[in-house]
Amino acid sequence: MKLQRGTTPRAVQVDPHGVFANSELDLNEIEVYGFDYDYTLAVYTVEFHYLIYDLGRDWLINKFKYPKAIGELEYQPGFAIRGLHYDIKEGILMKIDLFHQIQFESVYRGLTPMKREDVERVYNGCYIPQNMIRPGGESSRTKQLNDLFSVPEICLISNVTEYFIKNNVPFNPEILFYDVQNAVASIHPIIHNTLNDSNIGTYLEKYSQLEGFLQRLKANGKGMFIVTNSPFKFLDVGMRYMLGADWQQFFDVVIVQARKPKFFTEHLRPFRIYDKETKSQLWEHVTSLEKGKVYVEGTVDQLQKMTGWVGHSVLYFGDQIYNDLADLTLNYGWRTGAILCELAHEIKISNSDDYRQTVGSMQTLQYLIEQTQDDDSRKGDVEQLLMERDALRKKSKSLFNPNFGSVFRTHHNPTYFSRRLFRYSDIYTSHVTNLMNYSLRHVYYPRRGLLPHELYMSSQN
Ligand SMILES: [Mg+2]
Repeated sequence: MKLQRGTTPRAVQVDPHGVFANSELDLNEIEVYGFDYDYTLAVYTVEFHYLIYDLGRDWLINKFKYPKAIGELEYQPGFAIRGLHYDIKEGILMKIDLFHQIQFESVYRGLTPMKREDVERVYNGCYIPQNMIRPGGESSRTKQLNDLFSVPEICLISNVTEYFIKNNVPFNPEILFYDVQNAVASIHPIIHNTLNDSNIGTYLEKYSQLEGFLQRLKANGKGMFIVTNSPFKFLDVGMRYMLGADWQQFFDVVIVQARKPKFFTEHLRPFRIYDKETKSQLWEHVTSLEKGKVYVEGTVDQLQKMTGWVGHSVLYFGDQIYNDLADLTLNYGWRTGAILCELAHEIKISNSDDYRQTVGSMQTLQYLIEQTQDDDSRKGDVEQLLMERDALRKKSKSLFNPNFGSVFRTHHNPTYFSRRLFRYSDIYTSHVTNLMNYSLRHVYYPRRGLLPHELYMSSQN
């Protein structure tokens, strides 16, 4: 994009396949590229979410003896979004912003939106205390939807909750939550065995640029590795589909069943060799990591010691901000990239005339409200302006998702999810292949943000 001096880029479109910087990142300094697998290298189709949902629902009926009628409750792909918080004790799904403020029009019990006064009664207002949402905290009673696998899971909980409420079936939301958690954990082996060479195309997207992306890294002497929580068989089916039978040629180290985030936080779990022939783990001492082999578990400490890969020369990509990226950023100084496939869709909406006009009108109304609110003689005008603004807020939200709006923002703040994204990732994008739009010498610069007390300076001035 070439800008003439003295013009303002009013109609600039944001590239849905761009790479965006939270912190300055110079690719010249990156010698090694690491990847998570699920939803990082591999992006699943909506059919995969149907599979998770259907197997989980059937498990509730067949193993936990839930009412057979829930077998008729179907997966609803657009119901929830990543990043929401689910209150396990109360059975409430909600969106909160970076200040832990509940977004009142994005709070659901089952499939039914909750009224503001009901939400305020449960939480004594609109603030969720830190100890309720701290990941892994003792007193944490919420689960955040950290990844896209959580979306069908929460839809199952919401559907069953709705069924119980509508049919006056007494139930404890905590028991339902843990039953669904157990059901989804129990179906993992079934899912891993369901995907095979003949049906993998139904469940996995194929990115034509992936091979070229890895080829370019390899040709430029970059190291590459995978650390995934999935088992080898599952990884292998997908990678063969995407890259062919010799996919391991690209990767110097392949680690499966890593049990992240423990892979990053524990220190005493040795690597084991996975024997591809016998499909079993060997018990010999692992003192070095060899290309072509597959390793199970281990720790990031050992990975660093055995490879010499440390600090700012490693860029690791993952889709789970907390499980994949937080520890690496905070404790190891690795550079990190978040892969968020919803991002491309959200950028396309933000680029639309409808969205831009709505936000423009909303900002104009907000300005008028600010200017007139202290004038007692114009109280009626302010009320009218507030109503018009709120109507536009609803519209801008529903363009992303009618129930919960954008993954990344509320009406005027970033979401809680975004706060962690900005803190724990250096760059973020919708897919790793988007890096093909940039050279390997590219420096990603964060945008100079506007602080509340700073003035917007147009290039026209
Ligand atoms: Mg993943």
